Amino acid sequence: MYTTRFTRRSWVEIDCVQLETNLKIAKSHMSDNTDIMAVIKADAYGHGDTKVATLLNKLGVTLFAVSNIDEAILLRECGIKGEILIIGYTPVELASELMKYDITQTLVSEEYAEKLLTGKMDIKCQFAIDTGMGRIGINACDIDRCVRAINKYADRCKLNGIFTHLSVADSADESDILFTKKQIDMFENLAKCVSHLELEYIHCLNSAGGLYHSCCTHNKVVRLGIVLYGLKPDYYNTLPEGISPVLTWKTVISALKTVDANKSIGYGRTFITSKPMKIATLPTGYADGYNRALSNKGFVLINGQKAPIVGRICMDQMMVDVTEIDHVKEGDEVVLLNDKFGADDMARLIGTIGYEVVCNISKRVPRIYIE
Ligand SMILES: *Cc1c(COP(=O)(O)O)cnc(C)c1O
Repeated sequence: MYTTRFTRRSWVEIDCVQLETNLKIAKSHMSDNTDIMAVIKADAYGHGDTKVATLLNKLGVTLFAVSNIDEAILLRECGIKGEILIIGYTPVELASELMKYDITQTLVSEEYAEKLLTGKMDIKCQFAIDTGMGRIGINACDIDRCVRAINKYADRCKLNGIFTHLSVADSADESDILFTKKQIDMFENLAKCVSHLELEYIHCLNSAGGLYHSCCTHNKVVRLGIVLYGLKPDYYNTLPEGISPVLTWKTVISALKTVDANKSIGYGRTFITSKPMKIATLPTGYADGYNRALSNKGFVLINGQKAPIVGRICMDQMMVDVTEIDHVKEGDEVVLLNDKFGADDMARLIGTIGYEVVCNISKRVPRIYIE
């Protein structure tokens, strides 16, 4: 949650209506009885977890996934109702807090289950199953062992589900599609073997899985993260018509000047003016989460026109070339990210993913919510 007060320096606007639209469209692309588990880890991918969860809760979402216990408790403290699943690790010393706040913990391994559940029966848990991600969970290749472990710990806690995670569901590559199918098959097979437990939550799909592979599974629950925020799992994916980024990042022009030819701009003198140029300074830098790799590479939008970044991005400021843009003045609004040039597009310029771009927008950038 953000406590930074709003000033017109560097800020993010979240379009709540678009968030609702994304949820509805994503849902309409899945089978009728699909339940959405909203993945709001990492402060809802930088969008603000308490606001996003409250909004989704009002829209009928009652399943949430977070990465750690602090995120989970924060949601409970702001009144979120329903299931909150921690899809990552919680130190076993915090077992009593899991119970106190009615939070569901992922069992990341048998060893972990043993430690967490020793002397404590009342914890709500779900078992992670590793079908090929190689991250957490019991290895699905040894199905007998999985069945034994699930049965054993179902008796020792309030086990209400099992889940796995797909590793290449966003890829259109034939071998990747086969791999995803194999992951889903292994998981469903295991789910059948433990059907006598009547587990409430059996889930294997992330956004890419839900969009491109939901026909391959009987699971009712889809864990949706990135697509809710209107971004793509991978740059080459196409999202259903109408899904669009909910986040806009803005700053202003703090200073404007004309610079002679052959002058350097910024640290390291990496940019030299080729002619007299109009240079604007913006009060946003890498400490705000604006990636420094965009130095001499990225651009911002002023009056809808592209202004290239010149020189290195500083901690709190950057400089852009506005020579070709008319009617610019100090105080003018500048767009860093919007629905036309989104985090996916920015990420592509520097070889990363949209997820990282939005997660990295730092806490000192206030988020405001447009209802
Ligand atoms: C982050 C995460 C998701 C959400 O993935 P998206 O690609 O954002 O939909 C789902 N499940 C698990 C286990 C995750 O870690």
